[in-house]
Amino acid sequence: MPPARPDEPGFPADQAARASAVPALDERLTHCRACPRLVAWREQVAREGRRAYAGWDYWARPVPGFGPDDAALLVVGLAPAAHGGNRTGRMFTGDRSGDALFAALHRLGLADRAEATSRDDGLRLTGVRVTAPVHCAPPANRPTPAERDTCRPWLVRELSLLRPTLRSLVVLGGYGWQAALPAAAAAGWSVPRPRPAFAHGARTTLTADGGGRDLAVFGCYHVSQRNTFTGRLTPGMLTDVLGRAARAAGLAVP
Ligand code: SF4
Repeated sequence: MPPARPDEPGFPADQAARASAVPALDERLTHCRACPRLVAWREQVAREGRRAYAGWDYWARPVPGFGPDDAALLVVGLAPAAHGGNRTGRMFTGDRSGDALFAALHRLGLADRAEATSRDDGLRLTGVRVTAPVHCAPPANRPTPAERDTCRPWLVRELSLLRPTLRSLVVLGGYGWQAALPAAAAAGWSVPRPRPAFAHGARTTLTADGGGRDLAVFGCYHVSQRNTFTGRLTPGMLTDVLGRAARAAGLAVP
């Protein structure tokens, strides 16, 4: 079979399967144009820009996960922000959500600085990687179910490639929870039935099919500006969930 074209719905499944390592997966992902509405939106946002980011050359492509390819902990969000990841080209980088997340990771010693501003700011994560079930910025931060499903092979492959070291997930928000559990099932973990419901502080365990280590999954309110500004998600709450997940993953945190 010839490789799928980037604008074909089968491109993610085809290209993800061909990636034998996380860096190759990240690179292949950046060529994807399988969701016409999201491709149009990510490029429109880049053309129009925002006054605060005048002079920025927007990334305007799919945003890959970020962090080491032997991570023990994976943080799964929703999708890049139009003027955050879609601008900088790095997940959770350059927006308020990332400000909250990286500050918490820094408090736990899993990030070497509290702020993420650009792809080349030198930020390094230890033991933790951040990703999303949808890799292009959606209008109103709302991907359609079809877009979520089209993008799923990227997350499934990322989970599969991380599987030798991955021990826990933190899923930010109900949307991510709905997307991450089926992806984990497709990557070789068994999800309890009935499927556990999302809640902040929820914890469930996915057993590894065919042996291997279980995956501890933690729910956390999304680090959206709406949640952090209103106090629905405080820095303490976020650090607490990330810390529990890091300890479950065997990472040394305070
Ligand atoms: Fe491709 Fe995912 Fe972006 Fe859709 S959302 S164009 S599947 S990377």
